[in-house]
Amino acid sequence: MLKLYNTLSQQKEEFKSVDPGGKLARIYVCGVTPYDTSHMGHALVAAVFDVLHRYLEHKDFAVTHIQNLTDIDDDIIKRARRDNQPYDELGRRWDALYRDGLRAINCLPFDNYVPASTVIEPIIQMVKKLVERNSAYLASDGNVYFRASSFPEYGKLAHLGMAEMLEKAKAGAEDSLVDRPGNPAKESDLDFIVWQAAQPGEPSWDSPWGQGRPGWHIECSAISTQNLGQQFEIHGGGADLIFPHHSSEIAQSETYSGKSPVVKYWMHVAMLYLGGEKMSKSLGNLILINDALKKNSADALRLYLLGQEHYRTPLHFTQEGLDRAEQQADLFRKALAAEAKGQGDIQLWTDQFYAAMDDDLDMPRAIRVMIDLSKAILENQVGTRGQEQLRYLSGLLGLPLAQD
Ligand SMILES: [Zn+2]
Repeated sequence: MLKLYNTLSQQKEEFKSVDPGGKLARIYVCGVTPYDTSHMGHALVAAVFDVLHRYLEHKDFAVTHIQNLTDIDDDIIKRARRDNQPYDELGRRWDALYRDGLRAINCLPFDNYVPASTVIEPIIQMVKKLVERNSAYLASDGNVYFRASSFPEYGKLAHLGMAEMLEKAKAGAEDSLVDRPGNPAKESDLDFIVWQAAQPGEPSWDSPWGQGRPGWHIECSAISTQNLGQQFEIHGGGADLIFPHHSSEIAQSETYSGKSPVVKYWMHVAMLYLGGEKMSKSLGNLILINDALKKNSADALRLYLLGQEHYRTPLHFTQEGLDRAEQQADLFRKALAAEAKGQGDIQLWTDQFYAAMDDDLDMPRAIRVMIDLSKAILENQVGTRGQEQLRYLSGLLGLPLAQD
């Protein structure tokens, strides 16, 4: 029985489809804003949900895995202006590199990968409905804001007090003056933008509120509703998205559909740190996927990102750790290539592997089981059946383990 930790309940819960047939596993993961390079933090989130995708398929669920691309927002417009380049060209370039990185670490393709700029009409329809329901309003500055007080449970995903929510809303809106607490055009500090009036020279679309563009949170509500329905199983992303982004998505989606909960399981991947600071584009303390792949194999990268810490524990990047993961990858390759003999039973390892994975994807434990199984293969205990099993389990973690 697969149990997943749900940020909403703060507990591990048995995974069950919300579809009456019981077979659908719909996963929505927040993607990137392609205004700069992609790094190991992105690889970590992608690898965790890639394994979830594979593991749910192994359990015979029909998986639909969707990701968005924030190809229109403040960051990208600012960078395009700085570099004197069309914003869409800039976005396409960095997005192509991001997706090259995901392919290089063997992530399965998404069932749909949706740029925000391709769903402007559904976003406008959603905002219209929110305004009709009195949950959003056109403010004096020309922007449309969601009225946080119209959704009494706003922020419940984050388990934070008002002061902490305001602090996070402030930090999150550093680059967006209009979305900042203290903006006098807003009725209340927790209100957040759903439609932003265009400044001269900015990319914009026609709307009932004049020329503008969508806020960030609304794109994910629109894309998830459109692709996965008004209620679906899993929504994921980095832990830094819990508030305000995911909290705002809940308020928008549930107000729009009138159905609750929009998402049954909220899953969040802890942050990746380098030199004591969160790895981020804005701080510039990055290990790029491509650079890491010059020194280490894609297998090692995945083994490191998935196996060094549980996905909900912050990971402090070290090259030594990555090199140790390379040794694990070598051990697995050696075990698979060996002239294996022996007739021993492999059930114990198989059971242990699945018990670890069923426990909220405890991949560090699952990888230790694979190490033990590899040793048993090399010690001629379990023969070719052990190798077949090791190959299968490696596949669930997305490790190609190609021999060179
Ligand atoms: Zn999102």
